[in-house]
Amino acid sequence: MQSLDPIFQPIKLGLHTVPGVWAYMFPEEVKYFQVDPEIRSSCFNCPQVKDAGFHPSVRCCTVIPRVPNFLMGMALNSEPTRGLIESYIAGGHVLPEGSNISPKQLLASLSYIVKPDRDNPTVVCPFLNWENKQCGIYAFRSTVCSTFFCHHDRGEEGGIFWEDLQDLGSQIEAALSQWALSEIGFDREGYFQRFNSLSEKPDSCSEEGKTGWSLSARQLLWGEWFGRETEFYKACADVIIQNKKDLYKIASAQSILQTEAYDESVRQELVKTFPKDLVAEALPDGKPEKIQNLWYSLQLSHRNLQLSRLPKSSEK
Ligand code: SF4
Ligand code: SF4
Repeated sequence: MQSLDPIFQPIKLGLHTVPGVWAYMFPEEVKYFQVDPEIRSSCFNCPQVKDAGFHPSVRCCTVIPRVPNFLMGMALNSEPTRGLIESYIAGGHVLPEGSNISPKQLLASLSYIVKPDRDNPTVVCPFLNWENKQCGIYAFRSTVCSTFFCHHDRGEEGGIFWEDLQDLGSQIEAALSQWALSEIGFDREGYFQRFNSLSEKPDSCSEEGKTGWSLSARQLLWGEWFGRETEFYKACADVIIQNKKDLYKIASAQSILQTEAYDESVRQELVKTFPKDLVAEALPDGKPEKIQNLWYSLQLSHRNLQLSRLPKSSEK
């Protein structure tokens, strides 16, 4: 069975559990990084419930994560996670690169950041199990979720290290999800052109009474794969698994396309209501950073993290 492949099994980075794909998508050295346990971010006894009034069941999962197509496909091939992904697909929340925040969800998310109602969170990750407070797609969660800690036991050096790891992992996920599109025979360039054409009619992306993408937007973006999203994601997972030994090399060589025109039209609408900085953070502008440069930054921040463990000269 495909789900017996080791890529389905979470691995450890220090004491932290991360998705099994990490063993393949990062440079080999990452597996041997010396990483401190982030004990102060004790998620099952979340300090932010008391300190910042976070909802005790939801805590910081008040986001709509971007899960790449191949992780969605792996989650569909795994019994405990299949149902969650199938319902998310049925709700119209996903696009060919993976789960993708819809215009309505983005609006709700920014409104929540500006005016959070901690007792009654209006934006909650669809994969969160409120009852046991667990992530429903833990083995397949995105790099952003795997690297987020609200406190860093080793202070600034720890924060920079996790942030650099997050930037590198997110860029690798974006590159691999786009590579997978081409590998399964999906016209990646045509898809991005169609996406950008939505900048001329951004309102057509949403539908009355629904939080996901509109039917017309999904039909346009999925093309001939519309209605076969499950099959599509599984095909993306398959090509990633078949090429697992070369994932970092593949990601480094991949050019990353962006939905610049569409993003700009959304930005122009959002700045009418929300602060410019907030919009810039939610929808960053500019060209994607090269994966090799992000890897270089991560190596430096890892080295600084190691140096921060040495006793200061005054402590000797
Ligand atoms: S990372 Fe999130 S869940 Fe974990 S302690 Fe911090 S706020 Fe709480
Ligand atoms: S994917 Fe998991 S960790 Fe990430 S926000 Fe959702 S429930 Fe939380």
